[in-house]
Amino acid sequence: MTPPGAAPSPVVELEDDRIAAHGVRLFLKRDDLVHPDLPGNKWRKLRHNIAPARERGTLLTFGGAYSNHIRAAAAAGRLYGFATIGVIRGEEHLPLNDSLAHAQGMGMRLDYLDRAAYRRKHEPDVVAMLRERWGDFYLLPEGGSNARAVRGCAELGAELRGFDVVCCPCGTGGTLAGLAAGLAPGQRALGFAVLRGGFMDGEVERLQREAYGTRRGAWSVEHGFHFGGYARRTAALDAFADGFADRHGLVLERVYVAKMMAGIYALAARGRFPRGTRVAAVVTGPAGASDTGLSGPSGTVAPGKRASLP
Ligand SMILES: *Cc1c(COP(=O)(O)O)cnc(C)c1O
Repeated sequence: MTPPGAAPSPVVELEDDRIAAHGVRLFLKRDDLVHPDLPGNKWRKLRHNIAPARERGTLLTFGGAYSNHIRAAAAAGRLYGFATIGVIRGEEHLPLNDSLAHAQGMGMRLDYLDRAAYRRKHEPDVVAMLRERWGDFYLLPEGGSNARAVRGCAELGAELRGFDVVCCPCGTGGTLAGLAAGLAPGQRALGFAVLRGGFMDGEVERLQREAYGTRRGAWSVEHGFHFGGYARRTAALDAFADGFADRHGLVLERVYVAKMMAGIYALAARGRFPRGTRVAAVVTGPAGASDTGLSGPSGTVAPGKRASLP
């Protein structure tokens, strides 16, 4: 059975003199609005994984304690009728943080792997141990990135014809891998890595090979806008996101989207886009409570503090 589809998300032009001054036009692809319960790239990545998960009855996947993917997988199980198991990196901490409490509230069963085992989570012996513990399941890799996820993100690329450069943030690289593959000749995709380490190019290429057997589309990764690493923030990043919210009335999700947007503004200021370039930025997810300052300590990633992998 195919899952219900979601309408193509809207594209809106952003009027900002800091961009216009460089002769660039900037558009937002509002994928944060793509699905009411499963927003953003998590919907794109899960959508073609729903049928095999329903067929097996149970989906097992991996993520850090603050993972948006874990939450989205739990929501998909509740919505589309399959059981979900979330294998979390590190030890159990009680009470659960908002993200894990939410996942559990939607029926997800939680399991934990210590850091050493988690690093080897996709190896046959660790998977065999999980099968012994949980029985049969459909395995979705960390961050939900597999060949089906890449194909779902290629559909996002196909909704963005007519732009010269299409930008997205990168965690595991699945979104960029698909986005680039879905573009037409002459368009290019630009990813902004939110983790340090410079391994993103290799991951994107590996995922494209898994999905298509070959590298696809024109794409590259910017490595200069991680602002200290995954889930880290700097005063400059916060100032950019606050200024953006004041000007445009849109609160940017800070782990991924704010870093990409700050990167696009910086590249425009450096003259990296020729005059007349039409740039589309994919808003890959909505702001959470921690981005608006409304959440208590459990939902907030403190500035400069490392949370967990995607
Ligand atoms: C998970 C997530 C990403 C990362 O996507 P990848 O496909 O893992 O690179 C980007 N943006 C948002 C808002 C996310 O939640």
